[in-house]
Amino acid sequence: MNIILTGIQGCGKGTQAEKLSQEFKWAHVNIGAIFRDHTSRKTDLGEKAKSYMEKGDLVPDDLVFELISAELNKAGNGFILDGFPRNIAQLEYLLKKYKIDKFILLDLPDDIAIKRISSRRQCRQCKKVYNILFNPPAKEGVCDKCGGLLEQREDDNEKAVAVRLSKFYEETGKVVDYFRENDKLVTIDANRDIEIIFEDILTHLK
Ligand code: AMP
Repeated sequence: MNIILTGIQGCGKGTQAEKLSQEFKWAHVNIGAIFRDHTSRKTDLGEKAKSYMEKGDLVPDDLVFELISAELNKAGNGFILDGFPRNIAQLEYLLKKYKIDKFILLDLPDDIAIKRISSRRQCRQCKKVYNILFNPPAKEGVCDKCGGLLEQREDDNEKAVAVRLSKFYEETGKVVDYFRENDKLVTIDANRDIEIIFEDILTHLK
């Protein structure tokens, strides 16, 4: 199966994509995380993407296409796309080569997402994501998985969050409309416990 997970930042798509990937052994393609890896390694691609990411803007499509085609070529038997496509040009690019079975929208009100983001922390080393309110590490500030230090993402600040929200409604909203019109849209209430949301997604995939 080829699946797309979408929703505003803080909706939990990364967490759910990771769980689905473990359950079904599908490749989890997280474009934002791949860009962050490039920016922290200061690669050419990372340097080009950095200023857009810091502001919460979408990275230009030509840079995104460079990444996504390499990732999907590696994916093989089924993938979960997390953070792509985010606009109509990206959708058209994807549909030229791939069939999408389900498009899952994790639905969350803006105010709850903003609250979640302010308590989101990420491991500096292994990039595991925590929420200090709902999904904290065993030891404050330290990653359970690798012992690395937890930090806040650079773009999880008020200004960038506002830009990311408006980009979602302006641009990604059209992608949501496309899948709604094609009967592939599954809307999931993301304002619930991680495990309950996961069970709900599984029910829709059966
Ligand atoms: P995310 O981790 O999904 O919140 O993505 C972090 C940032 O990476 C976004 O705010 C964008 O700047 C960039 N990014 C991720 N996916 C895309 C995409 N499909 N198109 C353009 N920019 C993207």
